Amino acid sequence: MRVLVLTGAGVSAESGIPTFRGKDGYWRNLDPARLATPEAFTRDPKLVWEWYRERRHRIRNAQPNAAHEAIARLGQHADEFLLVTQNVDDLHARAGLLKEKMVQIHGDIFVTRCSRCEFERHEYEQEQEHGLPKCPECHALVRPGVVWFGEQLSRNELERVENFLNGGACDVVIVAGTTATFGYIIDWALRGSRDGAELIEVNPEETPLSQFATRLFREAAAIALPRLVNQLLTKPTA
Ligand SMILES: [Zn+2]
Repeated sequence: MRVLVLTGAGVSAESGIPTFRGKDGYWRNLDPARLATPEAFTRDPKLVWEWYRERRHRIRNAQPNAAHEAIARLGQHADEFLLVTQNVDDLHARAGLLKEKMVQIHGDIFVTRCSRCEFERHEYEQEQEHGLPKCPECHALVRPGVVWFGEQLSRNELERVENFLNGGACDVVIVAGTTATFGYIIDWALRGSRDGAELIEVNPEETPLSQFATRLFREAAAIALPRLVNQLLTKPTA
């Protein structure tokens, strides 16, 4: 069984990580979609860092939910598997999914990288730092290793997705907890399911992908995915 899974903020929302959309996404009355931009960082890097430190803190204290666990289980049992997640948290990894089976297409919130040179480091431990951290190599400002609105996706990560899509037809494509507002998410879902694969959408609400889905679960990911993965792992596939 060859499986492609695409996930978005809806999967982590059930672990208490606020999505950008909706009222609970606001931080100090600010719209996160306007903080997660290169312009916001240029204008007020201190504010942007405060927001990201709070998010890191919240994520460190969050636990993977049943959706993350079901996806990790599928990843362990499928013959070939790739998860492409829009989530910058580490909950898929903490549920037990190997890094080589996962692409974080919008980056990793626990990476801090230089805004000028190639320097980067991981910040899994609680940070002591306050104020504005600087690059130890070139002294420019460092920034969170996430892809902001208006920025290019990482070429390396894009290549990993392309390699998987070009590596053969999928049997199953699952799209969970994403409103599929980015064109590339729709593109990957459709290309992954092009040769008659099942395209399964898990989302409480209709999305632009719903019309193409062969199966719909109008439920929260933590409810639907454990059941779906059980079915997939017990059903013999052709
Ligand atoms: Zn630097």
